[in-house]
Amino acid sequence: MIINVHAGHNPDGKAGCGAVGIIRESTENRNVKNEVIRQLKALGHTVYDCTVDDGAAHGSVTAASDVLAKIVKKCNAHTADLDVSIHFNAGARDADSSTTGTEVYICTADSKAKGTAQSICNAISALGFKNRGVKVNGNLYVLRKTTAPAVLVECCFVDDKDDVELYNCADMASAIVYGITGQKCQESNKPSETGKDTSATPTDTTATEQKVNYRVQVGAYSVRTNAEAMQKRLKAAGFDNFMVKNGGLYKIQVGAYSIKANAEAMQKKLKAAGFDVILVKA
Ligand SMILES: [Zn+2]
Repeated sequence: MIINVHAGHNPDGKAGCGAVGIIRESTENRNVKNEVIRQLKALGHTVYDCTVDDGAAHGSVTAASDVLAKIVKKCNAHTADLDVSIHFNAGARDADSSTTGTEVYICTADSKAKGTAQSICNAISALGFKNRGVKVNGNLYVLRKTTAPAVLVECCFVDDKDDVELYNCADMASAIVYGITGQKCQESNKPSETGKDTSATPTDTTATEQKVNYRVQVGAYSVRTNAEAMQKRLKAAGFDNFMVKNGGLYKIQVGAYSIKANAEAMQKKLKAAGFDVILVKA
């Protein structure tokens, strides 16, 4: 695919920058944008970075509108299959202990990007963010003015502590890439550094921390012998597994992974072998 990707707004500290909460939109959307581009290129796609860092604030032109006009100009300079605008949301009024979540905008209800928008939403919410769904908004400048089908991703909220706690740049980028392409980038666990060349360079996965984020679970039983029967079935099919007791249930799990793509690969294998599987966030 040919894909235009940009981070919304001017950079932090400049007029027309993004929302500021516990984290800063213009900082994080650039981090996510860089990682999305790195992964898409690693997967073999053609990607143009249409981010604008020099929105001017002079005369009657505001920085915000100048940024938008420049972004659209960059986007429309290429014939692309998709335009992706990366933003973070604000205004969560955080009073609970759950995320406020993710949403993706399209310009019209019959936008060609509707399916992609839904896939991105679903992939981000699979990370644990509340799925606020695909929203139609005919007033967003970049969606209205770009010629390719376009999506505007509001990754999560900068001012909700639960969103911020769950948020991880590499995972967020992987979810967006998966939503766009249906593909996983194997080097997706290491974010590229800001400002670094985003061309595809394999990263050293052995150096990253092995934190368990995902458990692949095949069943949860209130009766221990039923759990043991499932263990036997799995073993017979060649899957090592273990039993975890919690919440009054005997849970049978096949693996614990730091990288979602790896957990999903195991999930796929198990499904192919006829097992019902769920991914549990650790
Ligand atoms: Zn924004």
